[in-house]
Amino acid sequence: MSSDQLSITERTRVKRGHTRASFDRKILYEILDATLLCHVGYLRDGKPAVIPTVQWREGDHIYWHGSSASRALKNSIDEDVCLSVTHLDGLILARSAFHHSVNYRSAVIYGKATKIIDPDLKAKKLENMVEKIMPGRWPHLRAMTAKEVKATMVLSMPIEEASAKIRTGGPIDDDEDYELPIWAGIVPIHSMMGEVEADPRNLQGLEIPEHVSNLVR
Ligand SMILES: Cc1cc2nc3c(=O)[nH]c(=O)nc-3n(C[C@H](O)[C@H](O)[C@H](O)COP(=O)(O)OP(=O)(O)OC[C@H]3O[C@@H](n4cnc5c(N)ncnc54)[C@H](O)[C@@H]3O)c2cc1C
Repeated sequence: MSSDQLSITERTRVKRGHTRASFDRKILYEILDATLLCHVGYLRDGKPAVIPTVQWREGDHIYWHGSSASRALKNSIDEDVCLSVTHLDGLILARSAFHHSVNYRSAVIYGKATKIIDPDLKAKKLENMVEKIMPGRWPHLRAMTAKEVKATMVLSMPIEEASAKIRTGGPIDDDEDYELPIWAGIVPIHSMMGEVEADPRNLQGLEIPEHVSNLVR
């Protein structure tokens, strides 16, 4: 079993703002699990490229997927990549431009990406992805075809070399600036789901399924 604390490596040692760093797996995993979004950085023709995509975590591995023809995925197989996840939690309005900031939770994971080859395992991973997107949905879906599984690539990476960084709280101004008649504070930012919209091509009489209405509620 992996340890609760990630080992700090030369790459993951947080130098700037180190008091905001965390190497606690629980904190890191909460950051990963609270969103679908990530950005994956990789080398394409020797030059850096960063591509946004969906991620999901299973135990101590992180996964992402795409078309088998995706350049971002093909270029990542058995290569070093850097995957990051970010939540923007608030705007920090300070008394000076210099101290404006944002509240955030973020994670950076370094490692080698591995392609899932076995079609059954790949299909299982895709089920887990759908279940992260919308828990309870998989049993309602038409089964994936072998062609669809073949057309999809799933990459995984162990979560071994990783860091989290979190900023909370309000503005941190210079002492003398607290005397200035300038309003300062926090504008919190929350992500929320909106009203669901039925696909106009739904068959007549189909109700919004419970797994959808439950999550949105
Ligand atoms: C939404 C958001 C907005 C930000 N805006 C700014 C900004 O405008 N200006 C600014 O200077 N900084 C900003 N930061 C912080 C920024 O991510 C870096 O932490 C900071 O710029 C220091 O960079 P560095 O390369 O010197 O880090 P270093 O401390 O040298 O990084 C060393 C290692 O620390 C870890 N690390 C560094 N940053 C993060 C992170 N954010 N999350 C997880 N691990 C990390 C990585 O493993 C990295 O390899 C922002 C962060 C977030 C999430």
